[in-house]
Amino acid sequence: MAEHLRQVAIYGKGGIGKSTTTQNLTAGLAELGKKIMVVGCDPKADSTRLLLGGMHQKTVLDTVRDNRQGVTLENLVKIGFGGIRCVESGGPEPGVGCAGRGIITSIDMLENLGAYTEDLNYVFYDVLGDVVCGGFAMPIREGKAKEIYIVASGEMMALYAANNISKGIAKYASKGEVRLGGIICNSRNVDHELDLLRAFAKALGTHLVYYVPRNNIVQRAEIRRKTVIEYKPDSTQAGEYRSLAQSIETNDQFVIPTPISQEALENLLLEYGMMDLDDEYEI
Ligand code: ADP
Ligand code: MG
Repeated sequence: MAEHLRQVAIYGKGGIGKSTTTQNLTAGLAELGKKIMVVGCDPKADSTRLLLGGMHQKTVLDTVRDNRQGVTLENLVKIGFGGIRCVESGGPEPGVGCAGRGIITSIDMLENLGAYTEDLNYVFYDVLGDVVCGGFAMPIREGKAKEIYIVASGEMMALYAANNISKGIAKYASKGEVRLGGIICNSRNVDHELDLLRAFAKALGTHLVYYVPRNNIVQRAEIRRKTVIEYKPDSTQAGEYRSLAQSIETNDQFVIPTPISQEALENLLLEYGMMDLDDEYEI
Protein backbone atom coordinates (compact mmCIF):
# COMPACT_ATOMS: atom_id res chain seq x y z
CA MET A 1 0.00 0.00 0.00
CA ALA A 2 1.31 3.43 -0.93
CA GLU A 3 2.94 5.47 1.81
CA HIS A 4 1.08 8.64 1.00
CA LEU A 5 -2.33 6.96 1.02
CA ARG A 6 -4.74 8.58 3.45
CA GLN A 7 -7.54 6.32 4.60
CA VAL A 8 -10.37 8.34 6.05
CA ALA A 9 -13.52 7.22 7.88
CA ILE A 10 -16.55 9.49 8.07
CA TYR A 11 -18.86 8.91 11.03
CA GLY A 12 -21.95 10.72 12.33
CA LYS A 13 -25.58 10.35 13.24
CA GLY A 14 -27.89 8.84 10.59
CA GLY A 15 -29.27 11.48 8.22
CA ILE A 16 -26.74 14.12 9.28
CA GLY A 17 -25.27 14.31 5.76
CA LYS A 18 -22.31 11.93 5.77
CA SER A 19 -22.91 10.54 2.29
CA THR A 20 -23.78 13.90 0.73
CA THR A 21 -20.79 15.58 2.31
CA THR A 22 -18.40 12.74 1.49
CA GLN A 23 -19.38 12.68 -2.16
CA ASN A 24 -19.16 16.44 -2.58
CA LEU A 25 -15.90 16.53 -0.68
CA THR A 26 -14.36 13.77 -2.77
CA ALA A 27 -15.62 15.47 -5.94
CA GLY A 28 -13.71 18.55 -4.75
CA LEU A 29 -10.59 16.49 -4.07
CA ALA A 30 -10.89 14.86 -7.49
CA GLU A 31 -10.87 18.33 -9.04
CA LEU A 32 -7.56 18.89 -7.24
CA GLY A 33 -6.24 15.89 -9.15
CA LYS A 34 -6.45 13.40 -6.29
CA LYS A 35 -7.03 9.70 -6.92
CA ILE A 36 -9.81 8.48 -4.66
CA MET A 37 -11.81 5.43 -3.73
CA VAL A 38 -15.08 5.75 -1.81
CA VAL A 39 -16.25 2.67 0.09
CA GLY A 40 -19.87 2.87 1.22
CA CYS A 41 -20.22 1.10 4.58
CA ASP A 42 -23.96 1.45 5.04
CA PRO A 43 -26.49 -1.27 4.17
CA LYS A 44 -28.51 1.55 2.54
CA ALA A 45 -25.86 1.47 -0.19
CA ASP A 46 -26.32 5.12 -1.16
CA SER A 47 -22.80 6.34 -0.49
CA THR A 48 -21.80 6.63 -4.13
CA ARG A 49 -25.11 7.37 -5.85
CA LEU A 50 -24.29 11.02 -6.59
CA LEU A 51 -20.85 10.17 -7.93
CA LEU A 52 -22.20 7.46 -10.22
CA GLY A 53 -25.12 9.43 -11.64
CA GLY A 54 -27.68 7.07 -13.07
CA MET A 55 -25.46 4.04 -12.91
CA HIS A 56 -26.67 1.26 -10.66
CA GLN A 57 -24.10 0.07 -8.17
CA LYS A 58 -24.40 -3.55 -7.17
CA THR A 59 -23.16 -4.13 -3.63
CA VAL A 60 -20.17 -6.28 -2.76
CA LEU A 61 -22.32 -8.68 -0.74
CA ASP A 62 -24.76 -9.15 -3.63
CA THR A 63 -21.93 -9.57 -6.12
CA VAL A 64 -20.24 -12.20 -3.99
CA ARG A 65 -23.54 -14.05 -3.59
CA ASP A 66 -24.25 -14.03 -7.35
CA ASN A 67 -20.72 -14.92 -8.50
CA ARG A 68 -19.71 -17.96 -6.55
CA GLN A 69 -17.11 -18.85 -9.22
CA GLY A 70 -15.12 -15.73 -8.65
CA VAL A 71 -15.38 -12.00 -8.35
CA THR A 72 -13.16 -9.55 -10.19
CA LEU A 73 -12.26 -6.02 -9.23
CA GLU A 74 -14.34 -4.75 -12.14
CA ASN A 75 -17.39 -6.41 -10.57
CA LEU A 76 -16.92 -4.44 -7.36
CA VAL A 77 -15.59 -1.06 -8.39
CA LYS A 78 -17.45 1.39 -10.62
CA ILE A 79 -15.84 4.58 -11.86
CA GLY A 80 -17.72 7.76 -11.06
CA PHE A 81 -17.31 11.53 -11.29
CA GLY A 82 -13.70 12.67 -11.61
CA GLY A 83 -12.47 9.09 -11.90
CA ILE A 84 -13.51 8.31 -8.32
CA ARG A 85 -13.62 4.54 -7.69
CA CYS A 86 -16.93 3.64 -6.06
CA VAL A 87 -17.74 0.60 -3.93
CA GLU A 88 -20.88 -0.21 -1.95
CA SER A 89 -20.47 -2.85 0.73
CA GLY A 90 -24.15 -3.52 1.18
CA GLY A 91 -25.59 -5.48 4.04
CA PRO A 92 -28.16 -8.07 4.98
CA GLU A 93 -31.88 -7.34 5.14
CA PRO A 94 -32.74 -5.35 8.27
CA GLY A 95 -32.97 -7.69 11.24
CA VAL A 96 -31.00 -10.45 9.55
CA GLY A 97 -27.47 -10.94 10.78
CA CYS A 98 -24.86 -8.34 11.59
CA ALA A 99 -25.29 -5.26 9.44
CA GLY A 100 -21.56 -4.67 9.63
CA ARG A 101 -20.74 -7.91 7.86
CA GLY A 102 -20.70 -6.26 4.43
CA ILE A 103 -17.88 -3.98 5.46
CA ILE A 104 -15.66 -6.80 6.58
CA THR A 105 -16.31 -8.77 3.40
CA SER A 106 -15.73 -5.70 1.24
CA ILE A 107 -12.45 -4.62 2.69
CA ASP A 108 -11.13 -8.19 2.56
CA MET A 109 -12.18 -8.59 -1.07
CA LEU A 110 -10.81 -5.20 -2.08
CA GLU A 111 -7.47 -6.00 -0.49
CA ASN A 112 -7.25 -9.44 -2.02
CA LEU A 113 -8.16 -8.18 -5.48
CA GLY A 114 -5.63 -5.34 -5.34
CA ALA A 115 -7.97 -2.37 -5.18
CA TYR A 116 -5.60 -0.36 -2.99
CA THR A 117 -3.32 0.62 -5.86
CA GLU A 118 -0.14 2.66 -5.53
CA ASP A 119 -1.56 5.70 -7.25
CA LEU A 120 -4.40 6.20 -4.73
CA ASN A 121 -4.24 9.34 -2.58
CA TYR A 122 -7.38 8.72 -0.53
CA VAL A 123 -9.80 6.00 0.49
CA PHE A 124 -12.97 7.25 2.20
CA TYR A 125 -15.19 4.94 4.26
CA ASP A 126 -18.69 6.35 4.68
CA VAL A 127 -19.89 4.55 7.79
CA LEU A 128 -23.40 4.60 9.23
CA GLY A 129 -24.36 4.87 12.80
CA ASP A 130 -24.59 6.78 16.02
CA VAL A 131 -22.00 4.64 17.75
CA VAL A 132 -18.82 2.94 16.68
CA CYS A 133 -19.56 -0.74 17.21
CA GLY A 134 -19.30 -4.23 15.75
CA GLY A 135 -18.65 -4.41 12.03
CA PHE A 136 -19.01 -0.66 11.75
CA ALA A 137 -15.90 -0.19 13.83
CA MET A 138 -14.02 -2.37 11.37
CA PRO A 139 -12.36 0.39 9.31
CA ILE A 140 -10.79 1.87 12.43
CA ARG A 141 -10.51 -1.23 14.60
CA GLU A 142 -8.39 -3.01 12.04
CA GLY A 143 -6.27 0.07 11.48
CA LYS A 144 -7.45 0.58 7.89
CA ALA A 145 -8.61 4.15 8.35
CA LYS A 146 -6.29 6.14 10.58
CA GLU A 147 -8.04 9.41 10.11
CA ILE A 148 -11.62 10.10 11.19
CA TYR A 149 -13.98 13.00 10.71
CA ILE A 150 -17.30 13.29 12.46
CA VAL A 151 -20.15 15.06 10.69
CA ALA A 152 -22.38 16.92 13.15
CA SER A 153 -24.72 19.88 13.44
CA GLY A 154 -25.84 22.05 16.34
CA GLU A 155 -28.80 19.78 17.03
CA MET A 156 -28.68 17.98 20.33
CA MET A 157 -28.94 14.46 18.91
CA ALA A 158 -26.18 15.10 16.38
CA LEU A 159 -23.86 16.31 19.13
CA TYR A 160 -24.90 13.47 21.40
CA ALA A 161 -23.98 10.99 18.64
CA ALA A 162 -20.72 12.81 17.88
CA ASN A 163 -19.72 12.62 21.53
CA ASN A 164 -20.55 8.89 21.64
CA ILE A 165 -18.62 8.24 18.46
CA SER A 166 -15.62 10.03 19.93
CA LYS A 167 -15.80 7.68 22.92
CA GLY A 168 -15.39 4.77 20.51
CA ILE A 169 -12.57 6.52 18.70
CA ALA A 170 -10.78 7.26 21.98
CA LYS A 171 -10.91 3.58 22.83
CA TYR A 172 -9.38 2.45 19.53
CA ALA A 173 -6.96 5.38 19.42
CA SER A 174 -5.46 4.46 22.78
CA LYS A 175 -4.54 1.06 21.34
CA GLY A 176 -3.51 2.06 17.83
CA GLU A 177 -2.79 4.79 15.34
CA VAL A 178 -6.31 5.96 14.57
CA ARG A 179 -6.90 9.66 15.28
CA LEU A 180 -9.73 12.15 15.07
CA GLY A 181 -9.03 14.74 12.36
CA GLY A 182 -11.88 17.00 13.38
CA ILE A 183 -15.56 17.81 13.23
CA ILE A 184 -17.33 18.83 10.04
CA CYS A 185 -20.41 20.92 10.74
CA ASN A 186 -23.20 20.25 8.27
CA SER A 187 -25.45 23.12 9.24
CA ARG A 188 -29.06 22.75 10.31
CA ASN A 189 -29.34 26.49 10.86
CA VAL A 190 -29.40 26.16 14.64
CA ASP A 191 -28.88 29.41 16.58
CA HIS A 192 -25.17 30.20 17.13
CA GLU A 193 -24.32 26.92 15.43
CA LEU A 194 -20.83 27.89 14.32
CA ASP A 195 -19.77 29.03 17.80
CA LEU A 196 -21.45 26.05 19.41
CA LEU A 197 -19.65 23.61 17.12
CA ARG A 198 -16.32 25.33 17.69
CA ALA A 199 -16.81 25.09 21.45
CA PHE A 200 -17.94 21.47 21.19
CA ALA A 201 -14.93 20.54 19.06
CA LYS A 202 -12.61 22.29 21.51
CA ALA A 203 -14.15 20.45 24.46
CA LEU A 204 -13.42 17.18 22.63
CA GLY A 205 -9.80 18.22 22.15
CA THR A 206 -10.25 18.60 18.41
CA HIS A 207 -11.19 21.38 15.99
CA LEU A 208 -13.92 22.35 13.58
CA VAL A 209 -12.52 21.46 10.17
CA TYR A 210 -15.22 23.20 8.20
CA TYR A 211 -18.71 24.65 8.43
CA VAL A 212 -20.86 23.58 5.48
CA PRO A 213 -23.93 25.81 5.11
CA ARG A 214 -27.35 24.32 4.56
CA ASN A 215 -28.54 25.01 1.03
CA ASN A 216 -31.43 23.61 -1.01
CA ILE A 217 -29.20 23.33 -4.04
CA VAL A 218 -28.03 20.10 -2.38
CA GLN A 219 -31.53 18.63 -2.86
CA ARG A 220 -31.78 19.96 -6.40
CA ALA A 221 -28.53 18.22 -7.25
CA GLU A 222 -29.56 15.08 -5.38
CA ILE A 223 -32.75 14.50 -7.38
CA ARG A 224 -30.58 14.68 -10.48
CA ARG A 225 -28.24 12.14 -8.88
CA LYS A 226 -25.35 14.57 -8.87
CA THR A 227 -23.03 16.23 -6.44
CA VAL A 228 -23.41 20.00 -6.28
CA ILE A 229 -19.92 20.25 -7.75
CA GLU A 230 -21.08 18.42 -10.86
CA TYR A 231 -24.59 19.93 -11.04
CA LYS A 232 -23.68 23.60 -10.50
CA PRO A 233 -19.91 23.97 -10.48
CA ASP A 234 -20.12 27.76 -10.24
CA SER A 235 -22.53 27.90 -7.29
CA THR A 236 -21.47 29.15 -3.86
CA GLN A 237 -22.27 25.73 -2.36
CA ALA A 238 -19.88 24.05 -4.82
CA GLY A 239 -17.30 26.56 -3.60
CA GLU A 240 -18.02 25.55 -0.01
CA TYR A 241 -17.36 21.89 -0.81
CA ARG A 242 -14.13 22.82 -2.60
CA SER A 243 -13.03 24.72 0.51
CA LEU A 244 -13.92 21.71 2.63
CA ALA A 245 -11.78 19.56 0.33
CA GLN A 246 -8.93 22.03 0.75
CA SER A 247 -9.30 21.92 4.55
CA ILE A 248 -9.13 18.14 4.59
CA GLU A 249 -6.18 18.15 2.21
CA THR A 250 -4.18 20.49 4.44
CA ASN A 251 -5.40 19.28 7.85
CA ASP A 252 -2.60 18.42 10.22
CA GLN A 253 -4.45 18.18 13.54
CA PHE A 254 -4.96 14.58 14.55
CA VAL A 255 -5.86 13.81 18.13
CA ILE A 256 -7.15 11.24 20.57
CA PRO A 257 -10.50 12.81 21.44
CA THR A 258 -11.56 13.61 24.99
CA PRO A 259 -15.30 12.89 25.08
CA ILE A 260 -17.35 14.94 27.52
CA SER A 261 -20.02 14.01 30.04
CA GLN A 262 -23.71 14.22 29.22
CA GLU A 263 -23.96 17.05 31.71
CA ALA A 264 -21.15 19.02 30.07
CA LEU A 265 -22.80 18.52 26.70
CA GLU A 266 -26.13 19.79 27.97
CA ASN A 267 -24.46 22.78 29.60
CA LEU A 268 -22.80 23.63 26.31
CA LEU A 269 -26.14 23.51 24.51
CA LEU A 270 -27.71 25.64 27.18
CA GLU A 271 -24.93 28.22 27.09
CA TYR A 272 -25.24 28.79 23.35
CA GLY A 273 -29.01 28.34 23.32
CA MET A 274 -29.38 31.06 25.98
CA MET A 275 -27.18 33.58 24.21
CA ASP A 276 -30.00 35.87 23.25
CA LEU A 277 -32.50 35.76 26.03
CA ASP A 278 -34.83 37.90 23.95
CA ASP A 279 -35.51 34.80 21.85
CA GLU A 280 -37.42 33.39 24.80
CA TYR A 281 -40.11 35.94 24.18
CA GLU A 282 -40.34 35.34 20.47
CA ILE A 283 -43.07 33.11 19.18
P1 ADP B 1 -26.31 10.33 6.01
O1 ADP B 1 -25.41 9.75 4.97
O2 ADP B 1 -25.54 10.91 7.15
O3 ADP B 1 -27.36 9.40 6.49
P2 ADP B 1 -27.24 11.97 3.82
O4 ADP B 1 -25.95 12.40 3.25
O5 ADP B 1 -27.98 10.90 3.11
O6 ADP B 1 -27.06 11.58 5.36
O7 ADP B 1 -28.11 13.30 3.95
C1 ADP B 1 -29.46 13.30 4.37
C2 ADP B 1 -30.22 14.36 3.62
O8 ADP B 1 -29.77 15.65 3.99
C3 ADP B 1 -30.01 14.23 2.12
O9 ADP B 1 -31.25 13.99 1.53
C4 ADP B 1 -29.43 15.55 1.69
O10 ADP B 1 -30.11 16.07 0.57
C5 ADP B 1 -29.62 16.47 2.86
N1 ADP B 1 -28.45 17.35 3.05
C6 ADP B 1 -27.20 16.97 3.41
N2 ADP B 1 -26.38 18.03 3.50
C7 ADP B 1 -27.11 19.12 3.19
C8 ADP B 1 -26.84 20.54 3.11
N3 ADP B 1 -25.63 21.04 3.38
N4 ADP B 1 -27.85 21.37 2.74
C9 ADP B 1 -29.07 20.87 2.48
N5 ADP B 1 -29.39 19.57 2.54
C10 ADP B 1 -28.44 18.69 2.90
MG1 MG C 1 -25.37 7.81 4.21
